[in-house]
Amino acid sequence: MTASLKDRLAEAVDFALLHGLIKYTPRNALAHAPFTLTPCPLPAAAIDGMARLTPTYNALALALARDPRFLAETLGPAAAQDDFLGRLLRMGRSRDGVQPLSLLLTRIDFLMQDAAETGVGAAKLVEMNTISAAYAGLAGRVHALHRHLLQDSPDGARLVPNDPLSGMVDALAAATAAYGHADACCLMVIQPGERNIFDQRLLEFGLRARGIPTVRMALADIPGRTRLHEGHLLVEGRPAAVTYLRAGYGPEDYASEDAWQGRERIEASSTIAVPDVLQQLAGAKKVQQQLTAPEVLQRFCPAGEQTAVAATFVGQFGLDDPLGEDGTTPAWQVARDNPARFVLKPQREGGGNNLYDAELAARLAALSPTQRHAYILMERIYSAPHHALCAMEGSLREGPHVSEVGRFGALLAAGAQVQRNADLGYLVRTKGESDVETGISAGFGHLDSLLRG
Ligand code: ADP
Ligand code: MG
Repeated sequence: MTASLKDRLAEAVDFALLHGLIKYTPRNALAHAPFTLTPCPLPAAAIDGMARLTPTYNALALALARDPRFLAETLGPAAAQDDFLGRLLRMGRSRDGVQPLSLLLTRIDFLMQDAAETGVGAAKLVEMNTISAAYAGLAGRVHALHRHLLQDSPDGARLVPNDPLSGMVDALAAATAAYGHADACCLMVIQPGERNIFDQRLLEFGLRARGIPTVRMALADIPGRTRLHEGHLLVEGRPAAVTYLRAGYGPEDYASEDAWQGRERIEASSTIAVPDVLQQLAGAKKVQQQLTAPEVLQRFCPAGEQTAVAATFVGQFGLDDPLGEDGTTPAWQVARDNPARFVLKPQREGGGNNLYDAELAARLAALSPTQRHAYILMERIYSAPHHALCAMEGSLREGPHVSEVGRFGALLAAGAQVQRNADLGYLVRTKGESDVETGISAGFGHLDSLLRG
């Protein structure tokens, strides 16, 4: 590393530590969160195109969540293979009429598909997150870092402003106000030992500044530390107007019966759960796969938006769907024989669950016909790499990287009546060209910003 690069890294790390671009390490020490020193360039049209679609995806997620029968039909075969999904699905049946207000906080993730022929990549949907969409807080912090680093550079003017946190606080505050109880609070459901706690604290402190106190609690603590009173979920004597989940998306968060009862209590109360179980299920991989079928998209997507949404889809398939040149070979056999063309996804969230390449082929060969219902296949999106400088735990990595762009969104509705629906800003996660996953917490991705043009 040259002396000047070393200086740049040291300055960036100090800025990150000073401005809260931080996390806990596995040994409970404070460290900067992984970040890039070189924001990710993207054509303005691509950036604006993704941002424009956020409200449409939000509306889609709401429409799906309002159709428990569709969710049950779509997820039934997978749930038969998966106790976790099965229990969530059963919980979703009893939601009717408990709370007409709903708040969705989403993050819609895209990769730019490489188009070698035209040189113009197209944004393709990776997934719609309806639960625990993280990094709205730290995304603003990395943007501040880039603004600082580029202040004397002509690139500074191209840096795309980003402050998803304030929009998220606004949406949570609006939902709290709509709940209509003077003494209300927010319950934040967390994983014990969370290392990305600062991202959550930013939200919590933002709410506090609006007069809304937040109580943090793991699912398993809810039965002992809350109670139901006239429909309200009472937390330390105050009704939780909003219960915001940063946990509960995977079976690990339901290790005890107490944790399940905690989730059931949330769902049984009038708290505005972000997400409620139906919104969570609307984000399931199997549901997103079904949505790529034109007749399903037509059913849930506003008419004028279907073409734009469909243009972001790559192929997604049930494992026994007919595919291949003859149109009769099941998708799983096509993928087993062409593993580099696909990603194999189980019904899980939170990173690290998908299978690629040799592992994908081996898993497909080993699955029984009924086990195949628990997975979907998705065409793999290959992005053109760009040169980036990345900092992780104080050391620098330079070379070809690929970036994934998430758009944060918020939708508040009373029944089907949408009261607010907006794009809030973005998250960019940048990973090494050969890394398959992008997770920041998983140790692959680096927080990043966008450069327009
Ligand atoms: P999770 O719920 O685990 O976040 P995702 O569908 O977002 O599931 O997949 C995790 C990561 O795997 C993504 O962030 C992305 O980096 C990669 N990935 C997922 N789908 C694809 C795809 N079709 N092509 C290429 N990479 C993908
Ligand atoms: Mg994801």
